[in-house]
Amino acid sequence: MHTHSTASDGTLSPTAVLDRAALLELDVIALTDHDTFAGLDEAQIAASRVGVSLVEGVELSCMWSGNGDPVRLHLLGYLMDRDDPALAEGLRRVRDDRVPRLQRMTERLAADGIEITWDQVAAVAGSSSVGRPHLADALIATGAVADREEAFDRYLHQGTPYYVPHAAFEVLDAIRLVIGTGGVTVFAHPLARSRGRTVPDEAIEQMTDAGLAGLEVDHRDHSAEDRAHLRGLAARLDLLTTGSSDYHGTGKKDNELGENLTAPDQWERLQATATPPGARRPRV
Ligand code: AMP
Ligand code: FE
Ligand code: FE
Ligand code: ZN
Repeated sequence: MHTHSTASDGTLSPTAVLDRAALLELDVIALTDHDTFAGLDEAQIAASRVGVSLVEGVELSCMWSGNGDPVRLHLLGYLMDRDDPALAEGLRRVRDDRVPRLQRMTERLAADGIEITWDQVAAVAGSSSVGRPHLADALIATGAVADREEAFDRYLHQGTPYYVPHAAFEVLDAIRLVIGTGGVTVFAHPLARSRGRTVPDEAIEQMTDAGLAGLEVDHRDHSAEDRAHLRGLAARLDLLTTGSSDYHGTGKKDNELGENLTAPDQWERLQATATPPGARRPRV
């Protein structure tokens, strides 16, 4: 229920992700590139060919500002109306800001003596929704680091002086926006502490009030304690739970499609939460 392709920071094309899903005999997979729907048309064609059911998704870059200092987080949107103008405009705003933001990060690294140019980053990013992993790939290409993990540890994590944030949705607005188009929202890796600060349970309560449908529980960045906590929270707030690989191709170590799975009943509940295209309210 959570994978990336070359439309954002995955290393396989949408077609190759679906081919791999078929090889691994997965029934259903969601493609959820960062702030873009760009991979979904190609993924649908491949999905029909290989007989894997594709869930149209997106991972929205968000922040929660409930306690003052904003915490950055990711929200998975599924089965939304891709043609909704407000959603498309919001995604474009976030995506467009990723470029100057990554340029600033590149400049900060170069100013500190790390030999890297924007042209090198742009060359590895191509037309994708650009992010820090592309800067990592450029640093790998120049030989500055061995892999993305080393790039993040040394130069790219939120605590480094090179880090620059990019525009993001207010998470409560993002939830309402996706639901307003008929879609469903799930909070991605809510307790992935290695990426930076995480939100308190209070934020998840507010998100639930705004219409959040579920929590991504089984994720590589969650410990057994994290998962137990999230399962308890999901039960208390009546949220569905998912498991995912957050697949990025060769971008993450030992990362394989299907490394965590979503239970069929949770998938059925997710589908039942969506508004089918025929029943969506007309746009005016
Ligand atoms: P950005 O949206 O440009 O800030 O980049 C965030 C992305 O970086 C995440 O979606 C992950 O794919 C990737 N990422 C974050 N932390 C790490 C890490 N420690 N190692 C490898 N990739 C990471
Ligand atoms: Fe990513
Ligand atoms: Fe994420
Ligand atoms: Zn992801």
